Amino acid sequence: MIKFFLFAASALFAEQTFSIIKPDAVESNKIGDIESYLETSGLNIVAAKLIHLTPEQAQEFYAVHKDRPFYKDLVAYMTSGPVLVQVLEGEDAVALNRKVMGSTNPKEASAGTIRADFGTDIQRNAVHGSDSLENAKKEISFFFKPEEIHPCTKSK
Ligand code: UDP
Ligand code: MG
Repeated sequence: MIKFFLFAASALFAEQTFSIIKPDAVESNKIGDIESYLETSGLNIVAAKLIHLTPEQAQEFYAVHKDRPFYKDLVAYMTSGPVLVQVLEGEDAVALNRKVMGSTNPKEASAGTIRADFGTDIQRNAVHGSDSLENAKKEISFFFKPEEIHPCTKSK
């Protein structure tokens, strides 16, 4: 009974966010290490697939940055090799994922964060993570059909 209520409560407060393990990290064989950082923080991987973004997909995904000077290079980088797109679930998943990721620039990221440990520079920074719940929903539906997501049923 208690277990049921704990499960119901965790499902109630669970949030989903969208994450990408970017081409630099996939190429350097760091998928497993990065998943370990995410899982250790309490996030559950509830959907994942390895894909190679088309230029059109990368342009649309990063459309918010289309007027920034780094946009063209960003699209080239994000289409340079396969990426792991995934949905992460947990309490405060959006904020928790951003915390585990660290600052955009790996050189400014706190020690022990994914970007500090696996990022190279401000562009090749190993991971993407949604910056709000609203964007998480949009980004998840950009890559995943509802039936490809398997909400967490593990008891904590
Ligand atoms: N980026 C870049 N140069 C910059 C800022 C950002 O190449 O000066 C890239 C980097 O890969 C970053 C992505 O563009 O992760 C999106 O930028 P944003 O400011 O949204 O950072 P994030 O939300 O990824 O921390
Ligand atoms: Mg961003």
